Amino acid sequence: MIHDLVIAGASQVVSSSKEPPLRKESLSRLEVFEDVNLGIKDGKIASISKSRLASKHYTSGSGSVVLPGLVDCHTHIPFYGTRYEEFLMRTQGKSYMDIMQAGGGILSTVEAVRGAAAEDLVSFNLRFLEEMLARGVTTVEGKSGYGLDKETELKQLRVLKVLGEIHNISVISTFLGAHAIPKEFDSPRSYLEYVVGFLDEVRHYTDVVDIFCEDKVFGLDDTEYFLKEATARGFKLRLHADELVSLGGSKLAAQLGAISADHLVAAGNESINALAESDTVAVLMPGTSFFLKEGYARGRALVDNGAVIALASDFNPGSCNIYDPFFVMHLAITRCGLTVEEAINSYTANSAYVLGLAQSKGRIKEGFDADLTLLDLKDYREIPYRFSHDIVRAVIKDGEVAFGA
Ligand SMILES: [Zn+2]
Repeated sequence: MIHDLVIAGASQVVSSSKEPPLRKESLSRLEVFEDVNLGIKDGKIASISKSRLASKHYTSGSGSVVLPGLVDCHTHIPFYGTRYEEFLMRTQGKSYMDIMQAGGGILSTVEAVRGAAAEDLVSFNLRFLEEMLARGVTTVEGKSGYGLDKETELKQLRVLKVLGEIHNISVISTFLGAHAIPKEFDSPRSYLEYVVGFLDEVRHYTDVVDIFCEDKVFGLDDTEYFLKEATARGFKLRLHADELVSLGGSKLAAQLGAISADHLVAAGNESINALAESDTVAVLMPGTSFFLKEGYARGRALVDNGAVIALASDFNPGSCNIYDPFFVMHLAITRCGLTVEEAINSYTANSAYVLGLAQSKGRIKEGFDADLTLLDLKDYREIPYRFSHDIVRAVIKDGEVAFGA
């Protein structure tokens, strides 16, 4: 076979050899091929071999660690505008109420996104995709949730579709109409009934819904109501759960067979056990804890109890303006107690599983999409130590060099 591209003499090619969802031992293991050639054909991984591979093009892998392209399974693009003033207020000890009164908070982003033309949303968020790609991310999930009305929620989903079409990063959409209660509604339930009313139109863009299940936002009863209505319309479920208080969102996620329960900073033993006994993925986003100077999710306890975990950035304008996957891995390792192997699997195979891409992305395997991140490292175990260095040498997307060389 004549390959289209060969990465010649890679120091390490690192990937899980097991099919996700990975938990326990399979989560803690990576298969490492040393000094191998990686052949790509028609955008797919075709060969991993010690022998020389014939190819039209070659790139040197010498001194490089090759990882599966990183999959960020939880961000809040597309948004519009910045909330740095609110961030500075928080550093000066101002309360959530002070910030709301000064016009900050999530509703300020809602106002900005409602007022932005779709083209402006596309160009504003395109830059983030470019920067994420340069940090090794090849697939990103984005959500609506800054519209809180039918027109703007659908606009956000259309923008995500356009972003995926014009940028080589793969973009996966989630509907998060149930993100907050807009000013136009006086109760969570009346707003959710309105959202349920346009779920059939959402279905043209995505088959996944998410909800912010939290004290003073959508409580357990309202969350259950919404998720059952969504299930009846063929949607899969994700939840923002147990982020600020231990309300029981992760238990509900496990009960309803949701794909994931995300955040979990406040999740106690009962929630951890419920997740461990289910296939619902615990998505940890330690960047948010860092950004807000708050506690961290109990990653070690989740892993030890047998939960499936994934890592993501939670990139958004308010609570976490971080998208660097290596910084998030560093935090997962140093603050949540994960091993470097668990962190890599959680940002590749398991995060691809969360997005329904377990059969094509997140691993380096013959027949899988040739989405690869080449790091300027000799050993993958250097990642959490050198996370702030310029370690991404090149990114291959669908078999082509998309960044570096
Ligand atoms: Zn989120």
